[in-house]
Amino acid sequence: MTAKIRCFIGLGSNLDDPVNQVTRAINELASLEKSQFVQASSLYASAPVGPQDQPDFINAVVELNTELTPLELLDELQALEQKHQRVRERHWGPRTLDLDLLLYGDKQINSDRLTVPHAFMHERSFVLYPLFEISQDIEIPQDKLLSSLLVECPLGSLTKI
Ligand code: AMP
Repeated sequence: MTAKIRCFIGLGSNLDDPVNQVTRAINELASLEKSQFVQASSLYASAPVGPQDQPDFINAVVELNTELTPLELLDELQALEQKHQRVRERHWGPRTLDLDLLLYGDKQINSDRLTVPHAFMHERSFVLYPLFEISQDIEIPQDKLLSSLLVECPLGSLTKI
């Protein structure tokens, strides 16, 4: 039997009823093949990164144990984004659903399609605080303990809803 890898996925939406988009996506992640749902964080609201003339984001983090390879998991995440009829007109602009593979066990991946740990996770409050809510013991590969990253990452506009 293939070993299950503990992984964390970041969710974000700021279009077409974002609370519903993220809630649906959590349920969809909970039924991914070859994977077991462990837990989801609360939902959080945050001001957009980049252009400010767009709605606030709703964010959450999900923990799964999976037998999918990193690329198989990315394919599943991208298929879910498509299913949510993701609209994406500009970089860091509004989107119906954004799914990021934050951590895949203790693996470091740098390929054309995948950078893990996710490139910006260590500086984003809407990733770090939900992650800490569900798992305080995480070490980010080649980086600091999650708890140390949090000390350097202001909460900003992030609000638990
Ligand atoms: P974005 O939707 O702006 O987050 O970026 C999507 C692109 O990022 C896709 O082409 C992915 O192949 C690439 N990508 C690289 N690393 C990751 C990751 N850890 N999680 C999700 N997408 C990633």
